Amino acid sequence: MSARPDIATLPDRRSPEIPQAIVFRRSSEDVAAALYEVIATMNLHKPLFVFGRASRGMLGRSLMIDLGAQLACQSLDVASAHLDEVEAVRAALLEQGGDVVVGVGGGQTLDVAKYAAYDTGLPFIAVPTQASHDGMSSPVAVLQGPGDAGSDSYGARPPAALVVPIDAIREAPRRTLVGGIADLAVNLLAIADWQWAARFHGDPFDDYAALLARSAAELLVARRDLYTPETQFDEEDVEILVHGLVLSGLAMTLAGSSRPCSGAEHLWSHAVDRMRVGSGLHGEQVAIGAFLAARFYDESQERVLSLIRAIGAPTSPGDIGISKDDAMAAVRLVPEVRPGRHSRLSAAITADEAYVLEEAEAAWYG
Ligand SMILES: [Zn+2]
Repeated sequence: MSARPDIATLPDRRSPEIPQAIVFRRSSEDVAAALYEVIATMNLHKPLFVFGRASRGMLGRSLMIDLGAQLACQSLDVASAHLDEVEAVRAALLEQGGDVVVGVGGGQTLDVAKYAAYDTGLPFIAVPTQASHDGMSSPVAVLQGPGDAGSDSYGARPPAALVVPIDAIREAPRRTLVGGIADLAVNLLAIADWQWAARFHGDPFDDYAALLARSAAELLVARRDLYTPETQFDEEDVEILVHGLVLSGLAMTLAGSSRPCSGAEHLWSHAVDRMRVGSGLHGEQVAIGAFLAARFYDESQERVLSLIRAIGAPTSPGDIGISKDDAMAAVRLVPEVRPGRHSRLSAAITADEAYVLEEAEAAWYG
């Protein structure tokens, strides 16, 4: 496998690839028709489909039947976001050929397809069946391995196009949408953290990327009064969420880093990942992390927390099966999880750990 540059070292990052199309469709026939149109417009002929276990059953048959009538389609299934699965996709491309990789599924499936496409220099089209975090259109793939090593972030390119099956996303478990909304809302905290890092560490700050990330979050933060923990998200909610997640991806691509969408709340979530504790989705962990992170910025961040509460996202580590001891151990781990990433929370822990643990106690158990 070729070298895997960190996202910050990607070339020409000031002229990022912008998805050429974001198409929303409901029925599987309409998704297939839209996908055919996108592939034909890009003058491509031989898609390799990468399915997850659930997505093969949900959309796979229909896509292979409808598109197989017009294109030489190949497909394979992946079971996890492991580097071995990336190798399997590369091997399939070598054996069978293919001029575009189409990932159909949740975040893990898309990350495998995205990275395999990037690594082989082929365009990537995303058909996300969940909207549980901002990875669907980001320039990053989170992959496990090699062997039983934990997950790491790899620089890649965002999709050239997205065809969004709205009904599949709506029918996914509600908590996936809750996670996606939380992951988007915390952009406002991430930007506050980024501004702090620019001010006190001289980190480069990108106004345009920050503007995009903030606008993306505001799309949903502004709707917080519409939601209750019982709200069944409708088509409009899903469209707004997906647009927001795509804008977040664009903000990260422009910045050449995950900074516009990843602040102190993400550091706590990464610490939880490293400890391998609890049962939370990424967006759920980030929602909980937000209650601690928000204590280190001004009170305007209350708008983020009120959206998280309104949609019924978890607000305390116990909600996703993390003990108080583990939650506090994850706080202490925060300064170590992303070396070189300046964060007000990390600085606070380094300066006065006891004070931060008191804040965590108040945020989660007060
Ligand atoms: Zn995130």
